Formats: sequence, C-alpha cells, structure tokens
Amino acid sequence: MSQIDVPDAGPAATPATAPATVRDEPETRGLTVWAEIDLAAVEHNVRTLRALAPSSELMAVVKADAYGHGLLPVARAALRGGATWLGTAQFAEAFALRDAGIATRLLTWLSVPGSDFAGAVSRDIDLSASAPWVLDEIAAAAAAVGRTARVHLKVDTGLGRGGAYGADWSVLVQHARVLEAEGVVRVVGAWTHFAHADSPEHPTVLAQQDRFFEAVAEAERAGLRLEVRHLANSAATLVHPSAHADLVRPGIAIYGLTPVPQVDDDFGLRPAMTLRARLALVKALPAGQGISYGHAYAPTVDTVVGLVPAGYADGVPRNASNVGPVLAEGRRTTIAGRVCMDQFVLDLGPGSRARAGDIVTLFGGAPGEPTAQDWADATDTISYEIVTRLGARVPRLYVGGPEGGA
Ligand SMILES: *Cc1c(COP(=O)(O)O)cnc(C)c1O
Repeated sequence: MSQIDVPDAGPAATPATAPATVRDEPETRGLTVWAEIDLAAVEHNVRTLRALAPSSELMAVVKADAYGHGLLPVARAALRGGATWLGTAQFAEAFALRDAGIATRLLTWLSVPGSDFAGAVSRDIDLSASAPWVLDEIAAAAAAVGRTARVHLKVDTGLGRGGAYGADWSVLVQHARVLEAEGVVRVVGAWTHFAHADSPEHPTVLAQQDRFFEAVAEAERAGLRLEVRHLANSAATLVHPSAHADLVRPGIAIYGLTPVPQVDDDFGLRPAMTLRARLALVKALPAGQGISYGHAYAPTVDTVVGLVPAGYADGVPRNASNVGPVLAEGRRTTIAGRVCMDQFVLDLGPGSRARAGDIVTLFGGAPGEPTAQDWADATDTISYEIVTRLGARVPRLYVGGPEGGA
C-alpha cells in the first residue's frame, strides 16, 4: 500500500539534495512553513499579458490578498509590469491600496446595501453597479462627499451571477442617465464576466461577447460616454483576442498559473508562489506502523519519516491526505496519511538521509517542483484555490522586487 516512490539512496559522495533553487537563507531560519513570492515573476507575467493584448489597458486583479500572494507588494509589482488599473472584489482591499499611496485607477465591485460607498467615492475608487439600488446608494454617497462618482455598469451576458440581466439592463442604463443628469454619477465603464472562458471552444463565449457589445451599443445610444468596455479575464486574455476590448482583467495569469490547464501552453508565464517548509522531526518507523490520524497510511517496510509542520490551517487541503505531492531530498514524494491542522508526514524511505531542518517544497515553479496545478489535480480543485487558501499565518517572503531585495 505504499504510495511512496522509494528510489535508490544513490552514491554516498553525492547525497540527494533539493534543487539549487531552494534557499536556505537566514531569513527562513526557524520558519516552519513559508511562501516565497517572486515579484519579478509577477512583473514579467503582467508584461507578457500586455504584449498579448497590446491595444488594451490591463487591470491586475488583486482581490483576495492578491490570490494569497500579498496585496500591496503584488499590486506594486503589477504596476511596474505595466498594469494601468487594479481591481478588487471587496471595498476594504481597494481602500488599502489607495491608503498605501497607490494612485492608479482602481475598481471594486462587490457591494451590499450599506457598503461604504462614500469611502470609495472620497478615495476616487471606481464602483460597479448591477442594479438601480446600487446606483442610488452611490449617488447619495457622492452627494454627501461632494464629488461625482465614477461607475461601471455591469451586464449579465450569461454568467448568471452579477450584472443586470435581459431587460434589466435597459432599466439600469436609463437610471444611470437620470443620475448623470443630476451630476452625481458618471458612467465610465460597461463590463461583464464570462462563464466558460476556460473552455476555449465553448459556444457561450462568443454569445456572451455578442450580447456584451449589443448592451454597450444600447448604453451609448442612450447617451452614456464610456471610457472603457471590459470583459476579458485571464483565459479570455490568453485565448480570445476578440474579447480584449479596451481593458483586460487578468487575475490568475499574473500569478503565473494557467486558467486553461488542458491547453498545452504555459504562455510564457512564471509561477510567482513557492510554498516551502522545514522538516520538524525525522525518525525511523517500523513496517506496518500506521501514520497520522486514522492510520490512513502505513509503510510496508521499515522506513524513515519526516514531519512537515504545515497543515490545513496553513491552507494545505485536508483532502491532500495520501495524494499531495511534495519535493523532499530532491525527489517527488506524496503525503503519507492525513493532513492535520498544523502538520503532515512524509515517508522518506529507508535510504533517507534527511535531517530536521531540511527544506521541502510543496509547490513552486522550478524544474522538478510540484506545481499548484499538480496540487489542484490531486485534490480535485483549481490552482486558484490552492494559492488563495494559503493561511494568514504563513509568512510571505518577497524576492525579485524592492520589498525583498534581490
Ligand atoms: C476574479 C475576477 C477576474 C479575474 O479572473 P481570472 O480567471 O483569475 O483571470 C476578472 N474579473 C472579475 C469580475 C473577477 O471576479
């Protein structure tokens, strides 16, 4: 039942070592688990995406703490790479960007009645409206603050999530015209989001695109003077040039992960996040000794195990038990037994020379390292969730930018 590939120990003169990319540097001393965030990769990925959509501006989507990578350092790296807009779902993250001194265009889009629209308007943050009540709250906030609010009207072209659907779009457009005439609101954008952009051949992609441009035409006929029309997420940026419009909105691709893993092309993107840990304990266990809660794994031979101090509180999925890939001693192995809240175990094999303190890599982008996509495949999810769920207690160490030197 061993799921561990136990290779030969190799000649004694050349002990198995992790690849040269593993840093064993003073700043990681004593850390149990940490994520290295390569800001040069973010910058490179944004530049790569801009080259793919050369006549569009680029909004770097940095919601959810920049997909777990760290909001401010990533936002600054994206701007260095040529992003001219930043986007977040939640207002608080847009406020954090502005309050940190970032002056670029910002869009935030997920509101409920009572959201701090005044805080957004006073910070010159663009807002999204999918329904008349949102426009009313924005208008009231703008009047209170004494500024004109910048608004993007969102049309549901078939995602069936946010946005005004069907005839509701006409109502939203007319309502926006009234508020524009009052001078409290200015509609600067129209936008939508795809349901199936990650399936390059899916017929809904073109149908949504057609519906979007119809909706835009209606808004313009009604007298709205739009600065930006936008609909392309990462997948559309990479594989649907006809959807680039005035502005593309990639998220996952700026982190170097592909939204279309079934397409055999990395588009020149470089993964920005590498998750590493130090072994907390290495010890011998006899054949048959069950490992970790529930004894879901037992070695078939006398072996050496390593305790990895990272668990589901750190974002290691519990359903990675017995399947999550890890690079240890320069070799790919698989989690042995259950992932616990703070730790899991590796069966390093009888020939292991590992010692407490050695670094193991859960995922990254260097040759031989498992990828976030490998973790997604092993745990039946998408790479987005693997990086975004990284726990708040995992330190992010920045390299490749001013935040981290190098
Ligand atoms: C998250 C999000 C994006 C980015 O999506 P990716 O698939 O990560 O590129 C773009 N637009 C909206 C509205 C989003 O919510």
